[in-house]
Amino acid sequence: MKRVERSRREKDLLSKLSNIINYSEFIHANLVNVARTCGNKNCRCITKGQRHISLYLTTIRKDGARKMIYIPKALEEEVRQMVARYFRIRDIIEEVSDINLERVLSKKK
Ligand SMILES: [Zn+2]
Repeated sequence: MKRVERSRREKDLLSKLSNIINYSEFIHANLVNVARTCGNKNCRCITKGQRHISLYLTTIRKDGARKMIYIPKALEEEVRQMVARYFRIRDIIEEVSDINLERVLSKKK
């Protein structure tokens, strides 16, 4: 394969990408807050109507089915970061893809 001449910007993006992928975890999912009542009749969620807010991950499986996964409070921050990271990775790939497309188009002339 012919070696590609990459721009500074492209090299930076690719090195960022490889760092994220190699040294951290990511999850492709969306986060949703779900309000619920807990079942305890004396709880404020029933007595005051202040429902509990829980974090869920929603993922789309390969067969198209949507899956909701409850995330305990202790894992919320970690999971939020993992999901954010996935979208960061996707943004970087999109930007590199645009640069590559431009390069191909410039050869067309
Ligand atoms: Zn409750």
